[in-house]
Amino acid sequence: MDMDRVSSLVRQLLIEIGEDPDREGLVRTPERVAKALRYLTSGYGKNASDVINGAIFESKEDNMVIVRDIEVYSLCEHHMMPFFGRCCIGYVSRGRVLGVSKLARIVDCFSRRLQIQERMTREIARAVKDSIGAEGVGVVMECRHLCMMMRGVEKQNSVMVTSSVLGSFHDDAPTRAEFMALAGRRAAN
Ligand code: ZN
Repeated sequence: MDMDRVSSLVRQLLIEIGEDPDREGLVRTPERVAKALRYLTSGYGKNASDVINGAIFESKEDNMVIVRDIEVYSLCEHHMMPFFGRCCIGYVSRGRVLGVSKLARIVDCFSRRLQIQERMTREIARAVKDSIGAEGVGVVMECRHLCMMMRGVEKQNSVMVTSSVLGSFHDDAPTRAEFMALAGRRAAN
């Protein structure tokens, strides 16, 4: 990302919305916005195997692993406005598990891009499944979208819930039900 170019575009944007980019409070705003954007879109430069970085461990257990309440902050690709919430990731391993922090890193890798919630949910599920060859994976994500809350329909209390299930979570009803109960009980609170 060319920071000087992005800064000058933001400066131009300030003028277009009727601001004076030279007034005291805005002098360094273009530079700050450029830095914020670089961070908020840093997922483009990464993939799941980069962020996992080998933190895959052997495990003889084949129980379901669930990590709940992973924070999600992303930008919607339609308005470039934030949407945020949390997600729950569950999987049944086939002898290999991921470090817990790595699940959060996978979420960040896909959320720090322009996104739609439905696609991000699927991308996270796919990345977890592929990285450890899990028997099944489920992801449930619930987010509030500022583009919906601050503009448009102005529905301040609506939450979008998306889910993606792969492998045994897709094919086996009891496995899916166990995951949804563990993820959904919390989601309903
Ligand atoms: Zn939007």
